[in-house]
Amino acid sequence: MGKFKKMMEASFLMERIDYVETAKQLVKKYKLKSKVKITSGKNSGEYVPETDTITLRPSYSSTKEFYITILHEIQHAKDAYRLGVKTFMKKYTQAGTVAAYDGLDPHDDNKWEEKAERFAEKELKKYIWITGFSLIYISMLTSYLVFKKFW
Ligand SMILES: [Zn+2]
Repeated sequence: MGKFKKMMEASFLMERIDYVETAKQLVKKYKLKSKVKITSGKNSGEYVPETDTITLRPSYSSTKEFYITILHEIQHAKDAYRLGVKTFMKKYTQAGTVAAYDGLDPHDDNKWEEKAERFAEKELKKYIWITGFSLIYISMLTSYLVFKKFW
């Protein structure tokens, strides 16, 4: 099993992880080169396209919240890589203006934000499945060993 998968598993089991290290591994997994930094801002996370930097908070209320945040920022980075920083920023600002024009929230109703949120939810489900299956496998194996020993 790869180092990454092992780490995901351990983190879901223990609810305790090294945020920066896990974030860096994830960034690499999605073939990005973004830097990861911890700041004490009010946002749960942020992506700065100009410097290709993802900022995180020093702590999160749950492992799930952390994963949703980092995966969300990774989607922004992916869009910035794909479109180029300038184009991405232009399109992002445009989408915010469109939302505001419709009386919506320029950030929350921004289509790029919605895309990032969908991506984060989808990817997280994938990881939870992997962890779930590994747990079932481990418990079955344990039952089998116990069974063999006592019968
Ligand atoms: Zn965002």
